[in-house]
Parts: sequence; structure tokens; C-alpha cells
Amino acid sequence: MTTHYHAPIQIQTASGSSAGTSILVIYTGGTIGMDYDPTGSFLIPFDFEQILKKLPELLRFDLNLTVLSFLEPIDSSDMTPQHWLSLAKIIGDFYDDYDGFVILHGTDTMAYSASALSFLLENLAKPVIFTGSQLPIARPRTDARENFISALEIAATQEDGKPLIPEVCIFFDNLLLRANRTRKVQSHIFTAFKSGNYPPLAITGVTIDYQTHVILPIPQKSLIVHQTLNEDIFTVRLFPGMNLNYLASIIEMPRLQGIVLESYGSGNVPTDDQFLDILQYAIEKDIIIYNVSQCNGGAVQQNLYGAGQRLNEIGVIEGADSTPEAALTKLMFITALETDLDKRKNLLYKSLRGEITSK
Ligand code: ASP
Repeated sequence: MTTHYHAPIQIQTASGSSAGTSILVIYTGGTIGMDYDPTGSFLIPFDFEQILKKLPELLRFDLNLTVLSFLEPIDSSDMTPQHWLSLAKIIGDFYDDYDGFVILHGTDTMAYSASALSFLLENLAKPVIFTGSQLPIARPRTDARENFISALEIAATQEDGKPLIPEVCIFFDNLLLRANRTRKVQSHIFTAFKSGNYPPLAITGVTIDYQTHVILPIPQKSLIVHQTLNEDIFTVRLFPGMNLNYLASIIEMPRLQGIVLESYGSGNVPTDDQFLDILQYAIEKDIIIYNVSQCNGGAVQQNLYGAGQRLNEIGVIEGADSTPEAALTKLMFITALETDLDKRKNLLYKSLRGEITSK
């Protein structure tokens, strides 16, 4: 697919081209990149050529910084799987030229994009750090400065000449979180993201404290950049009183290959036969039903309650402690990768990038 971005901008930091570490920043849009228009009355996407005026602190970094901006910066509500493929391709194209990558992205769908990238980039050995902000970079109290600068520092951190974080992550406020374990949980306070089922990979304060025991090992194989995602996937979030006729008509949609079922608590669903019959009918049509919880912490355990037994019998797949964002993007990824139903199911039960706790 074609990628649409401006020509790369080199940022001259203190050490300029003599610096040892080089970072590629990809600016996609979102609140972080907002600045006031020349009349000072409304916010427009910020021109990255001006970054040093906004963040003179960058001058003190011992880094080679290059910025690639999307031709049209977007609100992350407009992100699509095509943008995720584009981001993965950019990282693949520039992988050998940089030690780490920072992606500036709107917060609203960051957890989806970052989860998708974690699946698309197989055998990733370098940091890919998503960040953004709750307040525009132009506002005096902005969190953009802190988030961007810490994300750069994390992306540049190495130990014995090797990157410390060979993972796709979200850095926000003071937490470095594994991307595919993370959800946006706040639109107001600065701690916008949470990883309910996995500890932070690092916590920033006076120092950056890396929790090395929870970081994935550096893979031995070379990077594979996947370039397909299946969009014939849907999410159904259970709620009391759901009109089952609507659910039944979704199942009839041509080409539908999988549904993320956002169930209650530890994977619970109504015991109503009509509901379970619809799921069974879907599974008989080779539609994968992938059960994850609406809760922000805990795991799906289908053998805990009565209705769960029936889910096991009809072949609903337990999503373990997956976030709904990771479940959706994983389903898009594995159904594009594999056509064989059993292979698809095996991949769902496996942790591919640390996204679930395997039994
Ligand atoms: N609507 C914005 C976005 O997601 C919000 C943000 O960046 O925080 O692009």
C-alpha cells in the first residue's frame, strides 16, 4: 500500500549527526500536535518544522532525530486498519536506519493502533513507543512535553548496545505499558491509559525504572512486517436486554469471519437458549466467537458458571485476559494470516506478542 507522508525533517539536537542513537518520530495527528492558528483563536495541526520552538529541551538530547509527518494529520477517531498497515510499512522501510521509533498519535484509538502494530511487527527487536497527550502542545500546562520527551528517552535506551524495549508500547503520564495490554480509561486526567492485567514495563519519576523481568526477550529471528488485516470482524458488547434479532442479523452478514464477544465479569453470558443458539449457529458457519471481558482486569474462565459450560460445548473461544482492543486486532490479524480454522483457533489460544497470559 502507498504511504502518504511529508519528506523527513531532521531535528538538529546538541550533538547533531555525531550522536550515537537515532530515533524516527512518526507524527500521525491527535491532540498532541495541536497549536493555535495565527489569530490565536482555534487549534490546528502543528507544523513540525517548528518543534524546537515548542520543545527547546530537545536541543539537549544526544540523539539524531528525524520526523515523518502524515500528509494530513488526523484525529485518531479516523484511524483505520489501512493506517495501521501504513505505520507498520514505514517502520519496516526504516527499520535498519534507526534504533527506535516514537509514534505520536491521538489518544482515543491509540490502544487499537498500538495493539495492531504489535501483531503486524513480528520478531520486533527495537522499541516502538506510542505517545500523545491530553492537552495540546501549545497549552502551558500541556502533558505533551513530558510524554514526548520521556518516550524519546525510552526509545533511545540501550543496554550493552541492545535496545532495552523490543516491544510496541504506549508511554503516557508516568507509565510505559505493553501496547496490547493497554486501554484508554480516562479522557480528563493525565493518567489516560491502564494495563489491568500486566505490570508496567517502566515507571518514570526522578529516574526511569525499567522492570526488566516483565519485558519480552529480544527475538533471534529477523523482523517480519505483515501487510494484511481482515476487516470482516465485528465486536458485540453484551448488555442486559439486548434485542437478539439484531445479533442474529449480524451473524447473517456475508463474509463475517469473527466476533469479539465482550461478555460480563469472568466471561459470563445470558443463559437464554435463544442467545446461545445464535452463537452456536454462528460457530457452525465457521465464524469465530472470541470471548473477552468488559472488565479492565481479570480473565475469562468459561468453566466457572453454568452458561460458560455451554459456551465451551459449542466452541466459543476463551480470550483469557485479553483487552478487547488486542482481541479485535488479533482476530483481524490471524484471520488474514491463516485460512484454516483450526490454525486460527490455535493462534488465538497462544500468546503471540505477550498479549495474553497463557495457561
Ligand atoms: N480526539 C483526539 C484523538 O484521539 C484526542 C487525543 O488526541 O487525545 O485524536
